[in-house]
Amino acid sequence: MNICVVGTGYVGLVTGACFAELGNSVVCVDNDAEKIAALREGRIPIYEPGLDALVERNVGAGRLAFDTDIAAGIRGALVVFIAVGTPQGNDGRADLSFVHDVARTVARNLDSYKVVVTKSTVPAGTGREVRRIIEENMTERHPFSVASNPEFLREGSAIEDFMRPNRVVLGTEDETAAAILRDLYRPLYLIETPIVLTSVVTAEVIKYASNAFLATKISFINEMADLCEAVGADVHSVAKGMGLDRRIGPKFLHPGPGYGGSCFPKDTRAVLELARDHDVALRIVEAVIDVNRSRPPAMVDKIRRALGGELRGKTLCLLGLTFKPNTDDLRESPALAVLDGLLGAGARVRVYDPVAMPIVAREPREGVSYCEDEYEAAEGAEALILATEWNQFRGLDFDRLKRALTRAVLVDLRNVYDPETVRERGFDYTGVGR
Ligand code: NAD
Repeated sequence: MNICVVGTGYVGLVTGACFAELGNSVVCVDNDAEKIAALREGRIPIYEPGLDALVERNVGAGRLAFDTDIAAGIRGALVVFIAVGTPQGNDGRADLSFVHDVARTVARNLDSYKVVVTKSTVPAGTGREVRRIIEENMTERHPFSVASNPEFLREGSAIEDFMRPNRVVLGTEDETAAAILRDLYRPLYLIETPIVLTSVVTAEVIKYASNAFLATKISFINEMADLCEAVGADVHSVAKGMGLDRRIGPKFLHPGPGYGGSCFPKDTRAVLELARDHDVALRIVEAVIDVNRSRPPAMVDKIRRALGGELRGKTLCLLGLTFKPNTDDLRESPALAVLDGLLGAGARVRVYDPVAMPIVAREPREGVSYCEDEYEAAEGAEALILATEWNQFRGLDFDRLKRALTRAVLVDLRNVYDPETVRERGFDYTGVGR
């Protein structure tokens, strides 16, 4: 099947490479000429494990190409995936201008029947709007279908998530589009992937409802962590005891500095605004957002207490800057919010992240030293703060750290370490919720 993926970011690039791997002929297009030039030279602009090999193999096999000619990409395809960004607008609503731009470009290049599929996360009603834009702007009259196929991949395990999803959601408005999309996903039937076939608007709601629910689990366990600290309980055992109940499940019950990344913060806000526009109150989502907003300042307070009540003039070491490990994505990273909170309180911070250093350094912050590794970052600092749980921070050499730090204080915002073990090594340990 000939496919065009418009928007070659995390989602578009993974989608394009995976559909090519499943035997389709895919062109990934983007209006960012630098990105396309890099991809054509075999350089992957994002950090995603396994993606470079997948892209190389499929480009080599002639199934995957990159182009800035969006019009040509659309004309040559039966299925056009819209995978452009839908960032948070100033009013909290999703900014759909990129999606609408693509819809207009599709309209001008509609030269035969096509299925126009939104993969970007969009508010309910966007499919209807895409249809309206195409109908009003098409230069040749051809039938077309609009569909919604929300993406659930996680950065860091995006290929596995795409190739072995828990489910595929297909929102369609007619049988032809449903048949074409089912056919496209047929290889996943072999691993018995459930396909949820529904209307376009329902598919759009499924994505927002899923993200809002996952964010709810995180804010919920973070509040339980606060309660555990107050009453002397261990939130890990609480999460384990809860998670073994199959109605609850063990995932997304890890306490920490709050959720971040390019999805949960903007999607929770967007669904809240969408509901307000329809006079519906989403009080739970509202509380989830509120709780999450309070996490980074609460973590800064935790660090302040671990240091005896004062941050001004202190030198600290912060490990991890991305919003989670195995990605270079810094968007809405709670680690960055903690960093800014510490700087705002007058501390100097020595930072290290395994992949994000060049990206963070582009936006210099006063009071920050950018270090080569975790041990250099610890040099002369009064406390080590673990903000993102990269694997390489899971086996730190505590003797070496003790020599580098001026005080043996570990504030573990991700609960990576066992408190007792760290204390036996002579460290003052503070975790979250235990
Ligand atoms: P991204 O910012 O990494 O990539 C978007 C790409 O679209 C950029 O390369 C940009 O240059 C391109 N673009 C913008 N306007 C364009 C246009 N008019 N024509 C061609 N290209 C254009 O975004 P992303 O993280 O891949 O997210 C894309 C969508 O998928 C968003 O709606 C997001 O919410 C959703 N999503 C993201 C994830 C994730 O983990 N990143 C997971 C699921 C869903």
